[in-house]
Amino acid sequence: MEGQIIIISAPSGAGKTTLVRALMQRLPQLMFSVSATTRAPRAHEQDGIDYHFLSVAQFQQHIQQGDFLEWEEVYTGRYYGTLVTEPERILKTGHIPLFEVDAVGGIHLKEQFRSRALCIFVKPPTREALRERLIKRGTDSLEEIDRRMQKADFELGLAPRFDVQVLNADLETAITEIEQHIRQFLAL
Ligand code: 5GP
Repeated sequence: MEGQIIIISAPSGAGKTTLVRALMQRLPQLMFSVSATTRAPRAHEQDGIDYHFLSVAQFQQHIQQGDFLEWEEVYTGRYYGTLVTEPERILKTGHIPLFEVDAVGGIHLKEQFRSRALCIFVKPPTREALRERLIKRGTDSLEEIDRRMQKADFELGLAPRFDVQVLNADLETAITEIEQHIRQFLAL
């Protein structure tokens, strides 16, 4: 597989989905790589657009067939992964794949694509701000929020392994900063 790719990782609740949407609007060269997951869809989420929603059995079959570039049991019993067919499909259309994955997935993709990948880590301003955003989002139980916070602490430790770290204190500033990094990397 030839071509450049962009990877964005951020702890859950760091504002990543909003950032990704804004970036796609500003940079029409990018196309979102739709991950596979076994978690249930949230109210507004559509199959094939936000995620490929699979059963655990379907996901495990893809693992056995070697269909994933990377996959992970992000939370116990909840699998997330990038199907090889996604970047292939996107590159064929002449677009640049944009991957939105967790920090471990980001590092795994970077290991495969190396200098063809720009991997960006989006940092929340503070741990407390992250917790507040998760509570405000209203999609997760308190138990789930604690689980996501534990994972966030682990992921923050991986941030130095990324090409670029961007602080998301002010959304507009963060989007502009990420856009500039991408433009520089893709020579746009
Ligand atoms: P959420 O359930 O909030 O949509 O996502 C939970 C976590 O899984 C987020 O950190 C998200 O970036 C990550 N994630 C989404 N897709 C993938 C993927 O394909 N691979 C990996 N490793 N993580 C993913």
